Amino acid sequence: MQQLYTPSKMSYVKGRRPKVDCILCAVCSKDRRVSQLEVYRTDHWVVTANLHPYNAGHIMVFPVRHVVDVRQLRKREHSELSLLQNLCLDVLDAAYKPVAYNIGFNIGRQAGASIEHLHLHVVPRYPNEAGFMDILSDTRTIVESPKRTVKRLRTYFKKLGGKTRRKT
Ligand SMILES: [Zn+2]
Repeated sequence: MQQLYTPSKMSYVKGRRPKVDCILCAVCSKDRRVSQLEVYRTDHWVVTANLHPYNAGHIMVFPVRHVVDVRQLRKREHSELSLLQNLCLDVLDAAYKPVAYNIGFNIGRQAGASIEHLHLHVVPRYPNEAGFMDILSDTRTIVESPKRTVKRLRTYFKKLGGKTRRKT
C-alpha cells in the first residue's frame, strides 16, 4: 500500500479544533470555521467524508438536530437513517469496491467518541489490511486525501441518491 496521506487523529483531538460549540452543528449550518466535507444531505441527516479517515471512503452520517444518544432520535429520523445507511453502502460499493464494512456509533468518550453530537461511522474495509482493532489506533495509512474523497463521493451520491434526497 502506498502512503500518500497520513492523518493524525490526536492533533485533532488535542486543541486544533475550531472554536465552535459543536463541530457537527457547525457543519450542518455550513459554518466557515469548520471544514466543509459534506457529500450528501437529506431532510434530517448530513453525510460527510471524515476529516481524519481510518480508511479511504470513511464517511460519517449525523442528524441535523443536536442529538447525543440514538434513543433521542425521532421516528422520522430513524426511518430516514435506515434508508440513508443503505444508500451509503451502495455509494461506497460503487465508488471504492470494499470487501467489508464496519458501521457503528461511538456513544460517550469511553467508547472513543471525541465529538458529542451523535454520528454514525461507515468504514469500508479492504483486502490485506490490518484487523478491526487497528482502526482505533491514532494513525493509519490512507491512500486518498479527504478532498479527493469528497469529490468522488459527491459524484456517486448524486448518481444514486434519488429517493432519499432532500426535498427543499
Ligand atoms: Zn451538535
